[in-house]
Amino acid sequence: MAKPAILTIDDDPEVLRAVERDLRRKYGSDYRVLRADSGPAALDIVRQLKVRNTPVALLLVDQRMPGMSGVEFLQQAIPLYPEAKRTLLTAYADTDAAIRAINEANVDHYLLKPWDPPEENLYPVLDDLLDDWRADFHPPFEGIRVLGLRWSPASHQIKDFLARNHVPYQWLDVEAAERDPEVKQLVASLDEEEKKHLPLVIFPDGVRLPEPNPGEVAGRVGLSTRPAEEFYDLVVVGGGPAGLAAAVYGASEGLKTVMIEREAPGGQAGMSSRIENYLGFPSGLSGADLARRAVAQARRFGVEILSPQEVTAARVEGPYRFVRLGDGGEISCHALLVATGVQWRKLDVPGIDKVTGAGVYYGATMTEAISCRDEDVYVVGGANSAGQAAIYFSRYARRVVMLVRGDSLSMSMSQYLIAQIKQTPNIQVEFNSSVTEVSGEEHLESISVYCIESGETNTVPANYLFIFIGATPQTDWLAGVVERDERGFIPTGPDLMRGGKRPRGWMLDRDPYLLETSVPGIFAVGDVRRGSVKRVASGVGEGSVAVSFVHQYLSKVV
Ligand SMILES: Cc1cc2nc3c(=O)[nH]c(=O)nc-3n(C[C@H](O)[C@H](O)[C@H](O)COP(=O)(O)OP(=O)(O)OC[C@H]3O[C@@H](n4cnc5c(N)ncnc54)[C@H](O)[C@@H]3O)c2cc1C
Repeated sequence: MAKPAILTIDDDPEVLRAVERDLRRKYGSDYRVLRADSGPAALDIVRQLKVRNTPVALLLVDQRMPGMSGVEFLQQAIPLYPEAKRTLLTAYADTDAAIRAINEANVDHYLLKPWDPPEENLYPVLDDLLDDWRADFHPPFEGIRVLGLRWSPASHQIKDFLARNHVPYQWLDVEAAERDPEVKQLVASLDEEEKKHLPLVIFPDGVRLPEPNPGEVAGRVGLSTRPAEEFYDLVVVGGGPAGLAAAVYGASEGLKTVMIEREAPGGQAGMSSRIENYLGFPSGLSGADLARRAVAQARRFGVEILSPQEVTAARVEGPYRFVRLGDGGEISCHALLVATGVQWRKLDVPGIDKVTGAGVYYGATMTEAISCRDEDVYVVGGANSAGQAAIYFSRYARRVVMLVRGDSLSMSMSQYLIAQIKQTPNIQVEFNSSVTEVSGEEHLESISVYCIESGETNTVPANYLFIFIGATPQTDWLAGVVERDERGFIPTGPDLMRGGKRPRGWMLDRDPYLLETSVPGIFAVGDVRRGSVKRVASGVGEGSVAVSFVHQYLSKVV
C-alpha cells in the first residue's frame, strides 16, 4: 500500500522547510511527507492524491497565507479527505482566530509557532492525532478503478473487458455519489473535462485514461496486441477452449505458436458461471476459472497470446498461410488453426439497438450480476446457457423470469439444470413467450412479451434483459479461402468428400485429415466446425487432436 500522506502548507519558505524537516525525521518512515507553499498549490496536490487513491492522514496548515487562508484551504480540502486530521499553525497573536477556525472548519488542533523543541510542542499532539486517524483508517482499494455510469455501454464494455481478462478492478458508479463518500470525493476531484469523458479508468500509478477503448487499456495491464514475430509454425485464431487447447498442445510439442483472440481468452466458456460436466471437476468450475488456468498453462509453454486482437482476413501463398490483423498488420505461418467458435445471435426486435449495453446484454452474466441486486431480471432463451445464467442471477436478483419460446425445457436443457431451476424459488419460467419490443431512452425501461397461447402482448417494466438465443459462426473473414456451409460453419475431413471426390482445388495425393479444411494446412476445431458437438470438452479434445494432424502436415511441407 502507498504510504499515507502528511501535507504541510506555509507561505514562509523557512518555516515550511523547518516543518517538513521535523515531520520527516519523526514520521518519514511511515508517512509520505509533502509540502506546498500556498493554498491553491496544496489543493492541486490533494486532488492528485485523491485520484491516485493515496490516503491523507494529516493536513498541517499555516493560517495566515496571502490569497487563501489555512481555514479556506481546509474548507475546500475536507470534502476530498473528510477523515484527514487537520491542524492549524498560528502565530501567538492569532490564537483567537484559530479558536474560531476550530469551530468553522472542524480543525482538530492548533499549534503555535515556533514549536521548538518538537519533542515537546509538536510530536505529542501529532502522535495523538495520527493514532486516532489510524484507528479509523480502512486501506483503500489499490488496483484499477473504473469510474462511470451504470447504464453506459462504454462503461459496460470496459468492465466486461477487464473481467473477462481476469484483471481485478473496482467499479465506481457516478450515480452512487450521493450515498458513497468514496465516489463523491473522487468525482469532486475531477475537472469538468474529465467528467464529460466517462468512463475514466484510473491506474494505481495515477495514470488516467478517459473514455478508453479496450486496446488502450490492454497495453497498460500487460496484455499484448502486437506479434513479436512475423512468422510462426502455428497460428491459432480464437482463444476459447478449442483454441487454448490447440495452443497448449502445439507449444508444448515444440511448435512456435501464437494465439490471437478478439475479446478475451476463454471464449463462450469464459462466460459460463458454472461448467458442471467437465471431466475432473466433480463440483464444477466457473468458465473464468477454466480460462485462467488454461491461459497460465499456455503461457508456461511459451504460447504468445495477442488479445484483444482480431483476425480480419486470411490468404494462402504456396506453403505459407497469412492472416491479417485488425490493426492492419499481417503474420504468416506454416499451419493455421481456426477456433473462432460461435457468437450470440442478436434479438431482432424494435428498440433493441438503442439500449444494447444499457440494460440489454448478450451473455454478459458475470459482469452485470452485482448491479442486478434486488432487481427483476429477464432471461431470453431455453438452452443450457440461459439456464446457467438464470441460476447465477437468482443469487443476486429479486426475481429471474425466463422467457422461453417453446412449451418445455426438456428438449433444449440438461436435466441437472432443469432440476436446479425447479428448486430455485425466485426463478419463474414463462413458456410460449417471446420478446417483441424493448424500449427505453437512456437505458432499458420496459419489454413487451407476446404469449403464443393467449395471443396477448404484455408490456412490463424491466431494467435488465439477458439474451441467450443460440449462436452462429462469424467466418466471413475466410470467405473465398476455405469452404464453408450456408450458415458459415466449416466442414473438415471426411465431411469435405463428395461422392468419393476430394474438395475443389485440393492438390495433394491424400484426403484431408480429420480436422483439416478444404485447404491443406488450415484446420478448424470446436464450435466453428460443421457438425461439432457444442461442448467445452469436445472443443478441448478437438484442439488437442488437431495438433497431431498439424505435425503430420508439417512433416510433408517443411
Ligand atoms: C453461457 C454458456 C454456458 C455454457 N455452459 C457449458 C457447459 O456447462 N458445459 C459445456 O460443455 N459447454 C458449455 N457451453 C458451451 C461451450 O462454452 C462451447 O461449446 C465452447 O466454449 C466452444 O469452444 P470454442 O473454443 O470452439 O469456441 P468459443 O468458446 O466460442 O471461442 C471462440 C473464440 O474465438 C474468438 N474469435 C472469434 N472470431 C475471431 C476473430 N476473427 N479473431 C480473433 N478471435 C476471434 C472469440 O472472441 C472467442 O473467444 C456454454 C456456453 C455458454 C455461452
